[in-house]
This record gives sequence, C-alpha cells and structure tokens, in this order.
Amino acid sequence: MFIPDHKPLSEAGDSCFIAVSQGQILAPDQSSWAPLEESTWRFSNPQLQAPQYCIGRYRGADCFVVLIDDRPDVYGHHWIDLRRLMALLDEAHYQMAARALQVIQWKLDHRFCGRCGAKTVSHRREMASHCDACDLFFYPRLSPCVIVLITRGDHCLLARNANFAGPFFSALAGFIEAGETIEGALQREVMEEVGIEVGQLKYFGSQSWPFPSQLMIGFHAAYAGGDIEVDGEEIVEADWFRYDELPQVPPETSLAGQLIRHFVAQHNNIG
Ligand SMILES: [Zn+2]
Repeated sequence: MFIPDHKPLSEAGDSCFIAVSQGQILAPDQSSWAPLEESTWRFSNPQLQAPQYCIGRYRGADCFVVLIDDRPDVYGHHWIDLRRLMALLDEAHYQMAARALQVIQWKLDHRFCGRCGAKTVSHRREMASHCDACDLFFYPRLSPCVIVLITRGDHCLLARNANFAGPFFSALAGFIEAGETIEGALQREVMEEVGIEVGQLKYFGSQSWPFPSQLMIGFHAAYAGGDIEVDGEEIVEADWFRYDELPQVPPETSLAGQLIRHFVAQHNNIG
C-alpha cells in the first residue's frame, strides 16, 4: 500500500527512491518497475546531489522522488515511459509512479512565481512552492477530465480521436472548464464532439493520469437523443457498436478500457 504524504517520517527511517528524468522513470528492466531501495540507489546513482522530494510512504519506508537531468546511463537500469509499464503495475506501484511524475512536473513548472517572476521556494509544511515576495502558494496542479461511455441498449458509442496513436476507438473524454460542473462538462463535450444528448449519468470511478496532470473521472451515460455528427477536428469517426462486436479498444489498465469492459460484462451476463 502506498500512502501519499509530503513529510518524511524521520531522518533515520528507511527510504526508497523513484528517479525521474525528462518524464521517464528509472526501472530495472523493460517489463517491471519498483522504487529503488536505498542501497541500490546509493550504489547506482551518479547524481546524489539531485533534488529530492518526499511523496509518501511505501511499506513503512519514506518514498522520495529524485529529479535527474538528461536521462544518464545508469548501470543495470533503463529509463521507461510509465504508459508502457501501466499494464504490469499493481495499484500501489502505479499510484506512487504517477505521483512521482506529477510532483516533478509541477516542480519544474513552478520554479518562478507566475505573478512577479521571483524564484519560488519549497514550503516547509505543505506540498507547495511559495513566492515569498507575493506570499503566493503554488500547489501540484491537477487537471480534471471527464470520460464517458454512452450506452444505448446493447450498443455503446465509441469514437476515434484524431490524436490517437493507433486505429482504436474509445470513450469520449474532455477537460472540465473553469466554472463548470462535472455533469455540465460531460454534456457539453458529448454535444460538441458527436452531437448527442445524454440522460442519466452513472459514476463509475476515477484514475490518476499523469501525462502530465489529468485526473480522469469516469461515467456511463444513457443516450437521450440526436444523431451522431462528429466535429471532424478532435473526433474523426464515431459509431454505435454492439457489446459483442467491438473494434479495437484501449486496454483495461486505462479507465476507458474499464468502462468498456464493465459494459460488455453486463451484457454478457444478460446474454
Ligand atoms: Zn511573486
């Protein structure tokens, strides 16, 4: 179990380390990941003076994320994109790796005050960067996104986004705008992207998505009206698919994949 926190337990306690460089984490090989134990870290790390930030506790040990420049070669290790490891990690490991990447990104993006331009400093008590001149706090940024699988009987609406790397289809997703509710954002995004009205919403779950700072908030939503009309910019193709005739969809390690799997399982049980 990983417990997020920002203060180390004590100077003398056990520690483990997550090394981050240019958005990638240091792993012992290409297909597994765990935080480095202190002895391994001290032995292998070429940059012991790199900035370190406590991000929580794992198995009673303080867990530190370490920011390293330029992805140096580290004997016996590889730099890896967390997205490539997602399918292989349990919840605790994913949570700590995700938090490590987000904390580092936030630190890099808030080295200076956005109001006066002065250098910020780490706050003593809180996980915050602080501008002493303005007395302004900068906390790790989260960008909430809503993701929704629209269902219509035994069909669901899946769409292909212009930015997807592969030929797969997924649930619709979008950022929640300032001043919007989650429900309002969901209805707006669906209308903008595919021209559909949705009715009853059912909360499904959430997922930290540190690429770089999203919090995905997932729903199933019932179709309420309209014909599919894609916006042609963000969404290039969308259609209704029967639960047993789906195109290629995201893996179950993502919230989108879980939304789709849950819908399929419900209809398999009915069938
Ligand atoms: Zn300032």
